[in-house]
Amino acid sequence: AIYNVGSINLDHLYRLDHFVRPGETMASDSYQCLLGGKGANQSVALAKAGADVKHVGAIHHSEQAVIDQLESLGVDTGLIKRVDVPTGHAIIQLTKEAENSIILYQGANHALTEEQIDNVLSKASEGDWVLLQNETNLIEYTMRKAQENKVKVAFNPAPMDAELTKKVLGFVDLLIVNEVEAMDLIGTSDIDSTIEAFPKAYPELAVLMTLGKAGVCYFDGEEHLSVKAFSVDAVDTTAAGDTFIGFCLSSLMKGEDMKQAITRACAASAICVTRLGAAPSIPTQDEVTTFLAK
Ligand code: ADP
Repeated sequence: AIYNVGSINLDHLYRLDHFVRPGETMASDSYQCLLGGKGANQSVALAKAGADVKHVGAIHHSEQAVIDQLESLGVDTGLIKRVDVPTGHAIIQLTKEAENSIILYQGANHALTEEQIDNVLSKASEGDWVLLQNETNLIEYTMRKAQENKVKVAFNPAPMDAELTKKVLGFVDLLIVNEVEAMDLIGTSDIDSTIEAFPKAYPELAVLMTLGKAGVCYFDGEEHLSVKAFSVDAVDTTAAGDTFIGFCLSSLMKGEDMKQAITRACAASAICVTRLGAAPSIPTQDEVTTFLAK
């Protein structure tokens, strides 16, 4: 199984003519409440890719609809804690020019406890994976416990906190970063020099670097792979990285090699960018198989 210790957010999306100005009160043209958070998106991608995924997180105890939605998408929610803190959420203003302005409230995503993590890892066995992003608390604690229990750790340090990430790299079996995160970690503003510098800076580490429409590169000290993205008409790249991570880890857990896993994950994320939205834009296994057969 894969234990995804991650955020669950409710995204409150308001479509507006312009951003609300200081002192202004404005009615919005429309409102949608959507399931979000990198953690929840990656759990949905893992489930759609056919993995046995158990989400580990926290939400306010009134929020049964979130649980029902995750369950209906195939995510095991038995390890999600109900707490007295409001569920994490984002207040998103979206203008006609497709610009956004976001208030993020971490809420229950930062209410994980050591007891909860200990309980999760007591259920895990060798060969299982723990996946983390950087939207929950107890990152280092969880990784240390995972390593003690011989459970593999995949880390997607998003949003990037370079100081924390460098501190925990010794616990990480697979690091997954996008261009911006990779550049932040190396401390340069040029992607080509980052790709060159990364394996030199971290020769022991297995790293998957997603490069948007350019594709993906992977290195682990022995192997160095480079896979091109599929050429599609992109309309919305939201959740492209989350889709990639879900499909790639699911393939690796099924025993596929890294090249096969990356290729399948690139196909899944290529489909994702042709659709609007986050979780609803993540394809199913069958859609990915059909896409690859073309
Ligand atoms: P993130 O969403 O975390 O910023 P990326 O932008 O690197 O991540 O996208 C993740 C993966 O999604 C890429 O490696 C690529 O395979 C796929 N992808 C992203 N944008 C496109 C695009 N415009 N066309 C095709 N594939 C894309």
